[in-house]
Amino acid sequence: MNTEVIIVGKGISGLILSSLLAKKGIDHVILSRNDNRKDFALSETLPPSTLPLLASLNLLALFEENASKSFGYHSIWGTDRITDNNFFFHHPYKYGLKIDKKRLMNRLAEKVSDKIIDFNFLSKLEQKEHGIIVEILNENETLTVNGKVIVDATGRNRAVLKKLGISVKAYDQLIASICHVPVVKHSKIKHKVIVESFKEGWGIVSSLNEQTNVISIFTNKNNAVLRELKDYQNWKSVLSETSILKGLLSSGTDCKVMGWDANSAKSVKVAGDNWLAIGDAAISFDPLSSHGISNAVYCANAASKAISAHLEGNALTSFKTYDQNISQIFDEYLKHKSMLYRAEKRWKESGFWKKIQ
Ligand SMILES: Cc1cc2nc3c(=O)[nH]c(=O)nc-3n(C[C@H](O)[C@H](O)[C@H](O)COP(=O)(O)OP(=O)(O)OC[C@H]3O[C@@H](n4cnc5c(N)ncnc54)[C@H](O)[C@@H]3O)c2cc1C
Repeated sequence: MNTEVIIVGKGISGLILSSLLAKKGIDHVILSRNDNRKDFALSETLPPSTLPLLASLNLLALFEENASKSFGYHSIWGTDRITDNNFFFHHPYKYGLKIDKKRLMNRLAEKVSDKIIDFNFLSKLEQKEHGIIVEILNENETLTVNGKVIVDATGRNRAVLKKLGISVKAYDQLIASICHVPVVKHSKIKHKVIVESFKEGWGIVSSLNEQTNVISIFTNKNNAVLRELKDYQNWKSVLSETSILKGLLSSGTDCKVMGWDANSAKSVKVAGDNWLAIGDAAISFDPLSSHGISNAVYCANAASKAISAHLEGNALTSFKTYDQNISQIFDEYLKHKSMLYRAEKRWKESGFWKKIQ
């Protein structure tokens, strides 16, 4: 099979890139690995600042159809008081979006269903002077795909970058321990999201639907608390010093805890002669930023422009500019993240806060 662009990964970044390339009439395929692991909802929220980008790409209506509006969040960070961070004063959108990611992804996949090729195993990825050859296996079948450009959209897995031998720099060792728990009503909570820090990390409670909250607790890989967080029965004692989080844990339930990489990381290069990385594969953000999906959409848009220019013959400048642009964004993000963590001064001597700041 011959095509212009091979996208590997059917997450939000890969699907949006596919829809943007389709609009430009650029021939491409999405290679999607069959994954038996059940989709595990993280209950992501998009801040109001992302909505103009979605509107400019004609994606806002689609996102809104598969989301509920979010009017702010509560935080207990750097102080014992609860702060109400209201989106009302944001311009031009006074709300963010709490997306139903599974539904949204299904809608996006439907739009580009003719581009998707499922596979079990990626057996070969070879760079040639004028392109890329990928070989995928399905049961007893082998398919060889020849493309001019390959895009890594495999999230933190970075499957293409690994094959190309591109290394990744991690800036911290943040890990999330995540549980789906029944909703517990709280008199002080009106928003669907609450963030609270504690001595050895921080946590976020984000509503998935009327019945279920997603609780994610973040700490460092080597922190002793991480071992305790593996068993939900210990969460009450780990969070015993918090004001709100401890009250949102349901008692009498035993929830399965999922571990998830949540660190800030960047591949040393996000573009080469005939490849690009987008979304989490290129730069991955700490969930405290709430900007992972905004980044996926931004990268997909920037990549679609770079690919278009590349195919028109501006091969050298377009991918180099993409690399510089995304690297610059990551530098700005690191400054912002550091500012957020430095705002918490209550546990300066704790292992977690010393490392993360
Ligand atoms: C606890 C937590 C909370 C978060 N909260 C928010 C939030 O509130 N707001 C926000 O904007 N972001 C949030 N994020 C981040 C957000 O989920 C990600 O940034 C976003 O999903 C990245 O999209 P992506 O397409 O780059 O990668 P992914 O969504 O990871 O998609 C990658 C795709 O590639 C596939 N894949 C993997 N390996 C291979 C392979 N070898 N071959 C083929 N396909 C492969 C995967 O199956 C998947 O379909 C959160 C993250 C975490 C961990």
